[in-house]
Amino acid sequence: GATWRQRADADLYDAKRRRRGLVPASLDTPEAEELLRAITDGELVVRYQPVVELRTGRLAGVEALVRWQHPERGLLAPDTFLPLAEATGVVDLLGARVLRAACHEVKAWQDRTGCRASVAVNVSGAELASAAYPARVLRALDDSGLAPSDLVLEVTETAFMDVPTMDASLSTLRRSGVRIAVDDFGTGWSTLSRLDQLPVDVLKLDKSFVDRVVPGAGCTPVVDAVLALARALDLEVVAEGVESAHQVTALRDAGCDTAQGYHLQRPVRLEEVDVSRAVHAAA
Ligand code: C2E
Ligand code: MG
Ligand code: MG
Ligand code: MG
Repeated sequence: GATWRQRADADLYDAKRRRRGLVPASLDTPEAEELLRAITDGELVVRYQPVVELRTGRLAGVEALVRWQHPERGLLAPDTFLPLAEATGVVDLLGARVLRAACHEVKAWQDRTGCRASVAVNVSGAELASAAYPARVLRALDDSGLAPSDLVLEVTETAFMDVPTMDASLSTLRRSGVRIAVDDFGTGWSTLSRLDQLPVDVLKLDKSFVDRVVPGAGCTPVVDAVLALARALDLEVVAEGVESAHQVTALRDAGCDTAQGYHLQRPVRLEEVDVSRAVHAAA
């Protein structure tokens, strides 16, 4: 499968080609046609991974992660089809479907359970490059009834640096109450020099940093430094890819707000999300 770096490179490549006015990769291959058909036929489904507040163990939110429920090949992970979606420009349509599904499903789930967890949706550079993007998000919120403050948009560092019009779009959405997260923080084209000016609320500490938090010590100097940076800039931190109890303890003791990872819960259907320890809306 594609690594984050391959995905980032694909994003960058695509955005650069668009800027030069080159046409996107052909939709005229059987694979691309099948993907487009799958999206329009509703074969994409969304799984949700809990984001847990480390001090209290409460559910803070969920991240929406797309899957392709393929009729023959089963449930496919995004690394098997996102690169093609990006190269063909179909990712725009894919993103719109996931956004709408996530807003509607999470709102219905909130109403069923009384739980006010937020939902984070991954956004591609291609979607953000479109001037219509903020309106699309506001319409999805409006149609679903989800509160803007219950939506987080996750943007990778690379997309941040590569789409010049993005700050304006994200600022517009942020004024409506939507929160913005920098995904895979620390791995991309560094946003560090602009971090204090970017319209962001959350840093998602990439799994590669969390992987290096091993028993025998606290957090690593880099993790400690990112946590200090986030505190100084008043940003929330979500640690990604937490796979051990040790990592939970070390991150919590270092002052990390929230985390997600297989040790806490894998991406699941909303009905399978453990809301028992979640914050319940006052009756
Ligand atoms: P991401 O946004 O960084 O999402 C986190 C990925 O790490 C997810 O992979 C999740 O299942 C996985 N993960 C979570 N905890 C652990 C752990 O403890 N160990 C390990 N090994 N992995 C963990 P997934 O679902 O395969 O998604 C991969 C990437 O695909 C995402 O990375 C995101 O960049 C992209 N993606 C997913 N859904 C969408 C979408 O709807 N739109 C767009 N544009 N991109 C999406
Ligand atoms: Mg993400
Ligand atoms: Mg991430
Ligand atoms: Mg990541």
